[in-house]
Amino acid sequence: MTIPYGRQDITQADIDAVVRVLKSDFLTQGPVVEEFERAVADYAHASFAVAMNSATSALHVACLALGLGEGDWLWTTPITFVASANCGLYCGARVDFVDIDPATTNICVAALEAKLKTASLNGLLPKVIVVVHLSGMPSAMKEIHQLAQQYGVRLIEDASHAIGGRYLDHPIGNCAFSDITVFSFHPVKIITSGEGGMALTNNASLAKSMMQLRSHGISREPDDMTHVPDGPWYYQQLQLGYNYRLTDIQAALGLSQLDRIDLYVAARHRIAAEYNKQLADLPLILPTHNPDGYSGLHLYVVRLDPAQTRRSRLDVFNELRENGIGVNLHYIPVHLQPYYRSMGFANGDFPNAENYYEQAITIPMFPGLTAENIEYVVTSMRQALN
Ligand SMILES: *Cc1c(COP(=O)(O)O)cnc(C)c1O
Repeated sequence: MTIPYGRQDITQADIDAVVRVLKSDFLTQGPVVEEFERAVADYAHASFAVAMNSATSALHVACLALGLGEGDWLWTTPITFVASANCGLYCGARVDFVDIDPATTNICVAALEAKLKTASLNGLLPKVIVVVHLSGMPSAMKEIHQLAQQYGVRLIEDASHAIGGRYLDHPIGNCAFSDITVFSFHPVKIITSGEGGMALTNNASLAKSMMQLRSHGISREPDDMTHVPDGPWYYQQLQLGYNYRLTDIQAALGLSQLDRIDLYVAARHRIAAEYNKQLADLPLILPTHNPDGYSGLHLYVVRLDPAQTRRSRLDVFNELRENGIGVNLHYIPVHLQPYYRSMGFANGDFPNAENYYEQAITIPMFPGLTAENIEYVVTSMRQALN
């Protein structure tokens, strides 16, 4: 028996939707991409949504649309996938990190406030902060937004883990406390389009810029052009963009999956409730809950509690893998990656993140996990911790 840490769920309706596109006139970006964008924007209560071939592309384009460039700084949390930081480097900006709050494992608001204060005195404020909702649990967006307003910083929510979640009774993605929110549709995430991502915003000019940037920086709208079109074939390249387009084939899968998103997130919550109950007596720190939020629950990360066990994380991890449990680790602190170390980051820079990294194990969490699977994971964990 092998149980992965995450797995997609594909139904006959998904397959039929993809086959319909394959038999249609459009394979790449066409009417189904637009339909998918409208559906996600409506679901998340945002005005605009721009689909792209990955969340990584969406983060890059979001940074460009916000004007991030050489001489600027982007800040994010060290406990995230490398893409949350790399998007700053793609734009020629420099990247720095703000340590996590060990209680929430999201970016620490107090540390952010202190760092902004110092940066402000030194004239080194970041242009953009990428806030990550780790495991799907929303960060303290209200407080972070207030700081961003105070210091004139733009905010991107990397909500790759969090579609389907809520914050202060509103869907994550409504951008009430950010400029742009990004979702990922990678197969291990909440819903999938194979590969894919989307950037949501309530700002029409940001939306327009992101739409151009995902397709070579080109516009066909006469209103955007520097002069009257030469003819019906005419388009203008207005900025340096990329080919980051999603295909209609992928959008059909994503759109079909979106029909089941609330069922998926509810199933994740049922599984988390079982884990919370069955793992409660073990020497583990279980995921915490933001009282202002409803998590998308992309991941279920437990931490070995050093006050309660002397078992090493590596031994526990290996034993679970040997038992056919596809445990994983989210994440290696980004600043400890060799590429970031070469910029001068070192051990000790963000102690809470590094401490979390020493303790964390991601255990299986996906809607298809059965009661027997859960019991097996719990039993194996209990044995490994003995
Ligand atoms: C998965 C993920 C990404 C990248 O998503 P892709 O769609 O694979 O490019 C970015 N940030 C976080 C936090 C992620 O988990």
